[in-house]
Amino acid sequence: LVSRKKKAEDTIIELNGEKIGNSKPQFIFGPCAVESYEQVAAVAEQIQAKGLKLMRGGAYKPRTSPYDFQGLGLEGLQILKRVADEYGLAVISEIVNPAHIEEAVDYIDVIQIGARNMQNFELLKAAGSANKPVLLKRGLAATIDEFINAAEYIMAQGNGQIILCERGIRTYERATRNTLDISAVPILKQETHLPVFVDVTHSTGRRDLLLPTAKAALAIGADGVMAEVHPDPAVALSDSAQQMDFQQFDAFYDAIQGFLNVH
Ligand code: PEP
Ligand code: MN
Repeated sequence: LVSRKKKAEDTIIELNGEKIGNSKPQFIFGPCAVESYEQVAAVAEQIQAKGLKLMRGGAYKPRTSPYDFQGLGLEGLQILKRVADEYGLAVISEIVNPAHIEEAVDYIDVIQIGARNMQNFELLKAAGSANKPVLLKRGLAATIDEFINAAEYIMAQGNGQIILCERGIRTYERATRNTLDISAVPILKQETHLPVFVDVTHSTGRRDLLLPTAKAALAIGADGVMAEVHPDPAVALSDSAQQMDFQQFDAFYDAIQGFLNVH
C-alpha cells in the first residue's frame, strides 16, 4: 500500500493549515523531552515567533538506561496539549505502548513511533487503527526494506497518514552518534509515496552538524527536518549535547531560510 507502484501521487498530510509532502519544506522543532510547562511554553514561543506550526516533545522517553529520566508520561502529554492550544501549534510526541494510543490522541496531533519501536508490530497496528498521522522513525539498525514494511503495517490497518523519518543507523563509525543515511531519502521517495523527514539531532548527536546535515537533507529532497531545541540544553534531562539553545535555533533557522532562498 505504501508503494509508488500502488499510488503514483505523493501523499500529502495536512496539519494545522500546513501541508507535509511535495510542498514547501516543513520543520518540526521542540525539546527532546517535556520537562515542565514553562520549558515547553518557552520553546513554543520561539517556534511561533518564526511562523512555524509544528512542535515536538517527548513524554514517554525510551532511554538506553533505566536510571535515566523516563519522561513525564500522561502529564507530559497534558502539558503539550495546553501549550499547543495556547500557541496555536500542532504537537507530535512519541508513544511507546499500544494501550496508550487511544488516550494519547486526545492530546497530540501526530503519533511518533521511535526507532526502538519500529518493529513493535502491535504498536504499529495500534497506530494504524488511530485516526491521526504517524511519524515513523527508522529503526536503529533497520534496512530500508524493513522500514518500508513497518510503514506497511500501519497502512494495512487503514491509516495512510504516515511520515517516514530517517534518523541515522548503527554502523562502526563513532564520530557521530548514528550514521545518517542520506541516500535513504531519495530511495524512500522513489519506493513510496509517503513524505520523508530527516531527524538531524538523533542521527548526528552533534550540535555542530545540525546545519550541514539539514541542508543536505533538503538538497536531496526531504520533505522536512526535525531538530531539538531546549531553553537551556546544559541542564536538559536528555540529549544535552545536541539540543540547540534559542540563539543557536535562530542562527540555524536563518541559515536554512537563506539556503532555501538560493536553491
Ligand atoms: C526522539 O525523537 O525523541 C527519539 C528518541 O528519537 P529516536 O527514536 O529516533 O531515537
Ligand atoms: Mn532526543
